[in-house]
Amino acid sequence: MSKLRSQVSYLHGLAKGMGIKQQSSEGRLLLGVIEVLGKMSDEVHDLKASHDELLEYVEAMDQDLGDIEDEVYGDQFTEVACPACGETLMVQHGCFDDDDESELKCPQCGVCLSDGAAYRDRERELDGAHDAYESRHDGV
Ligand SMILES: [Zn+2]
Repeated sequence: MSKLRSQVSYLHGLAKGMGIKQQSSEGRLLLGVIEVLGKMSDEVHDLKASHDELLEYVEAMDQDLGDIEDEVYGDQFTEVACPACGETLMVQHGCFDDDDESELKCPQCGVCLSDGAAYRDRERELDGAHDAYESRHDGV
């Protein structure tokens, strides 16, 4: 039983133990509130189960999409957000690795991307996510 459900169940038992009756207006109010709380905790429980199922499905889709991206783009490109306008760009690997001051510009806003900061941040983020994924699945 979820923590929320057990708390509502405790309140229900407490009200019963205190002898709260439907006859008084306060009793009707308290028992009504506890009944609504019980229905809400059931709804939350169902929503959480549905959310978990959806999350699992989205993660599987993300994994499949990653596999397709690897097949289509190989390891040649990485997704990078433009630091100025946020436009998502596919950047070829290695284009920021050398000291070449090439004029790689965002096609959306024209800001020069050649410092490669956004690209390196994204690379680090991907490496971190990969390491986290690996460590999460090693212990299972
Ligand atoms: Zn831009």
